[in-house]
Amino acid sequence: TGTPIMDQQSFYGGVFVLSSIEGIYQSLRGVRNLLILAGFGAFFIALGFTMVLSRSLSRPLLQMETAARKIAKGHLETRVEVGTADEIGSLAMAINDLARDLKRYRDTRREFLANISHELRTPLTYLEGYAKVLKEGLYQSLEERDKYLDIIQKETKRLNQLINDLSELAKMEEGRISLNFQWVDIMEVLESVLSKTSLKAKEKGLRIQVDIEDDLPLLYGDGLRLEQIFLNLVENAIRYTDAGTVSVQAKLVGQKIIKTIVEDTGRGIPEDELPYIFERFYRVEKSRSRQHGGSGLGLAIVKKLVELHGGVIMVSSQPGKGTRFEVDFPVKVTLQDHEEGGK
Ligand code: ATP
Ligand code: MG
Repeated sequence: TGTPIMDQQSFYGGVFVLSSIEGIYQSLRGVRNLLILAGFGAFFIALGFTMVLSRSLSRPLLQMETAARKIAKGHLETRVEVGTADEIGSLAMAINDLARDLKRYRDTRREFLANISHELRTPLTYLEGYAKVLKEGLYQSLEERDKYLDIIQKETKRLNQLINDLSELAKMEEGRISLNFQWVDIMEVLESVLSKTSLKAKEKGLRIQVDIEDDLPLLYGDGLRLEQIFLNLVENAIRYTDAGTVSVQAKLVGQKIIKTIVEDTGRGIPEDELPYIFERFYRVEKSRSRQHGGSGLGLAIVKKLVELHGGVIMVSSQPGKGTRFEVDFPVKVTLQDHEEGGK
């Protein structure tokens, strides 16, 4: 830096002070080097960190991919480890749930197919056997021949019923069944059921007791389907009761629910079997029930139909004393009510 020395207007000279700025440059260079070093350092640290992080993120994802591929190949016992409680953890849980559901679905389908083929084979064996007996004339009297023809007829009927029931159930499960909703008088439904079943009850010496409240509100439902529900329940009650009473009741509970009850004094159902009776093909005392003509689809259909009407079905039973089925239907006051209830 320099400064001129002046006197009035004339210039005498000047003073210059000189100093090397190398020192400043040096420290600047030092700072720059440090900055570059720090930059590189930070870059590598970040790189390392990212690599570790992405590895820890992608490892479970890769595991899940492997597991998903295994599941797709049919190894449904495969499970993913649920490590953390974050999104990855919940994805792992979802994959495990999916595998579990698939397994349950596969098992029930297998069991279902095994059941169907068994149920179809049994009547077919009878048909084949008795047809052969008739064809080869292996009977002693006309009476005997008629007996065999009766069996053939009965088994054909049973096969038909079985196939109908199966296709009904399949339709209901796929939601392909269309109900014909109308305002229905439950009293008429029950009376029609009783007129169809009373002969059978009389033959078995059973007393039928009816207790239907007057002036029950109309139900918004499919009359034929409602009849199917009660026909199944009353037929069961008669079929599984050897002596005593079958009682059918209907009453209004709290203005909101029509409660129907089908009760019998029959053989009952053991408590540990109660949870299963609504399953397809489930029968208590398998062979004995078959003698009675049942295939174990009745209650599965009943339950589906009750649900399609927005109702609930409950069962209680005491072995040796009797069984009581209760079906509750909600009372819909207007059509709009029904649509809201159906949502
Ligand atoms: P289906 O109704 O298809 O002809 P099913 O009567 O055997 O055959 P469900 O109606 O589904 O089948 O009933 C399932 C099982 O529950 C029956 O096999 C029977 O063992 C038992 N069960 C049903 N209702 C009664 C009842 N009222 N008393 C005693 N056991 C019953
Ligand atoms: Mg039945």
